[in-house]
Amino acid sequence: MRWNEEALQELEKVPGFVRSMAKRAVEKDVRKAGREEVTVEDVHKGRDKHIAFAEDKEDDPVTRIAVVRCETVSEVCPGVACFKAFNKRHKHFKPYGENTEIIGFFTCGGCPGRRVSRLVDSLKKHRVDVIHLSSCMMLEGDYPSCPHHNEIKAIIESKGIKVVEGTHH
Ligand code: SF4
Repeated sequence: MRWNEEALQELEKVPGFVRSMAKRAVEKDVRKAGREEVTVEDVHKGRDKHIAFAEDKEDDPVTRIAVVRCETVSEVCPGVACFKAFNKRHKHFKPYGENTEIIGFFTCGGCPGRRVSRLVDSLKKHRVDVIHLSSCMMLEGDYPSCPHHNEIKAIIESKGIKVVEGTHH
C-alpha cells in the first residue's frame, strides 16, 4: 500500500500512541475500495470514522482504559488482581502514567463475546482509548483460555480502539 506525501503528513498529526492503529484502519478502507494508494482524503475519512477522538488528545491528557473479562470466570473472580495491577501500574499496566483512569470493567456477555460490540460502542461515547483483554481470557489455568479472543480483539480494533492483551499476568 502506497501513501502519497500529503497523506503521510496528515498521518503525522495523529498522536503516536494511536498512529499505527489509524494507519491500519485507513489502509483497510482503501483496500476495500480496490485502490493501492492512500490520499489525504482517505486519512480525513478514516479520521472521521475511526480516530476522531485522537485529535482531542493534546487538549485532553487523560488516558481512559477499560477491561473486558470472561463472563464464566467472573462468577468466581471479583477482579481484584486486575485492579491491584492497575493501581500499582504492574505488568500490562506498566506503561501508563498518573493521568490514566479505568472507566469500564465489563464481562464479554458469554461466548462468543456477544456483548462486546455494544459495550465498546458505549465506551467510545465516554472516549475510551485502550481496552485490555483480561489475563483470565489469555491464560490456561482453572479455566481454559478464551477460544474467541482473536475475534473479540478484532471487533474492538475495528471500532478504532487500541487493544492490549492481558492485565495482571
Ligand atoms: S467468549 Fe471467551 S471470555 Fe467470553 S465467556 Fe466465552 S471463553 Fe469466556
